[in-house]
Amino acid sequence: MINENRTSNSNKNLLGLNVKKLTANGHAINLLKGMFAVISITWALPVDALQVKVTPTNPQLGDTLSVEINLENQDNSTNPTVAIGKNTYPAFEIAPNQYRALIPTTPLEKAGTRSLQVTGDGQVQNLAVKVQNRKFPVQRITLPPGKAGVNATEYELKRVAAFKALQTPEKYWNGVFLRPNAGRMSTTYGVRRYYNGKFAEDYYHRGLDYAGATGSAVIAPAAGRVALVGRVSQGFRVHGNVVGIDHGQGVSSIFMHLSRINVKEGDFVKAGQLIGAVGSTGASTGPHLHWGLYVNGLSVDPTPWRTKVVK
Ligand SMILES: [Zn+2]
Repeated sequence: MINENRTSNSNKNLLGLNVKKLTANGHAINLLKGMFAVISITWALPVDALQVKVTPTNPQLGDTLSVEINLENQDNSTNPTVAIGKNTYPAFEIAPNQYRALIPTTPLEKAGTRSLQVTGDGQVQNLAVKVQNRKFPVQRITLPPGKAGVNATEYELKRVAAFKALQTPEKYWNGVFLRPNAGRMSTTYGVRRYYNGKFAEDYYHRGLDYAGATGSAVIAPAAGRVALVGRVSQGFRVHGNVVGIDHGQGVSSIFMHLSRINVKEGDFVKAGQLIGAVGSTGASTGPHLHWGLYVNGLSVDPTPWRTKVVK
């Protein structure tokens, strides 16, 4: 989808128009001059300067949109950007003259057409991308009167928000993401909830749960830099003992409720490297690993990242 060639069309029109005029003119010298003029005009205009491809071709809510931008002439040093409404997403270079922006979609959004505005090389291209609806499972939770659950501390919220906002220019991941724990998946991404019969508008399960036993290995699903290590003793009341890995270019993973942490902030980890162990610390009702994958600040479904390579 979505590959407009307005520039080359207008070139063809320009060429046709000039040739017609020259034929009517008759003079050989004028024709020759005219040909040079036509050639220089063609060269002056960039041909197919902005080629854009969006994958997956048929996205649904929770998917990560990958917007690949190919520039033919990279005259300026600023990277292309992709804007949707009020949000602007950076594109990072993934190959010479090739850039890619990642756009999160979530269960809180409405399905339907998104208008993408791609800016690069002094040009703007508008694209329409249709995001399909998806039915997410629903849980009904009954809380006894007066029991509101655990609240996060200010410190915890601040640290986690700063971690999710990272947009490191380097790309650390390579290939598909590995499963971070061998346990069976107990809760999928995007589950919505009713609390005492009332729909929780802002809630969706922001990740995947693995029902691994206490102490079972948690590995890095992809390479990255450890950018967050938090502990219950520091006030991580909801997340519990937590590790956050920055995979670069706006992509990060968070691992919650750990019983043990094997890394420290600033460490670089490889895909498959041991980072901790499953536990039930923080707001957890039993041992499990919660893995959240964030793209430019929003929780996306990690499942497609497990099977398809995001360049
Ligand atoms: Zn979870």
